[in-house]
Amino acid sequence: MALRNIRKLGDDILRKKCRPVETIDEKILTLLDDMAETMHEANGVGLAAPQVGILKRIAVIDIGEGLIELINPEIVDVEGNIKDTEGCLSVPGKYGYVVRPSKVTVTALNRDGEKVTYNAEGMLAKAFCHEIDHLDGIVFVDKVTEFVEVEQ
Ligand code: ZN
Repeated sequence: MALRNIRKLGDDILRKKCRPVETIDEKILTLLDDMAETMHEANGVGLAAPQVGILKRIAVIDIGEGLIELINPEIVDVEGNIKDTEGCLSVPGKYGYVVRPSKVTVTALNRDGEKVTYNAEGMLAKAFCHEIDHLDGIVFVDKVTEFVEVEQ
């Protein structure tokens, strides 16, 4: 495994739309491993492939309940909405309020190519929405209604 360089806001790659993964090969598995390591090292709760310079529909999430690996994730259902603070490893030191669905249903492939369905709420729902946005070139700052000052 290896740490990858996290791209920061201003890097064009964060604004591009990612392509679906067609074959889950060794390269994809290595990318998943590297992304999890990079996310954990940076104390993040999620990381999407474009944040490490790869335009593929892949993300990893870990809100402290175990690692979730997402290949070609899609939000298939949403419910309610909730306003909460967010940050991003690509936007260090900036936090703001974003309105997101309070519950989401997400389908994705796991590393074995099996279709998995997640029903998420709270922080996990927020993480799914944030990371899947990255795959379409959307960064949370685009959706912030109000930035918040955080004491470092
Ligand atoms: Zn992010």
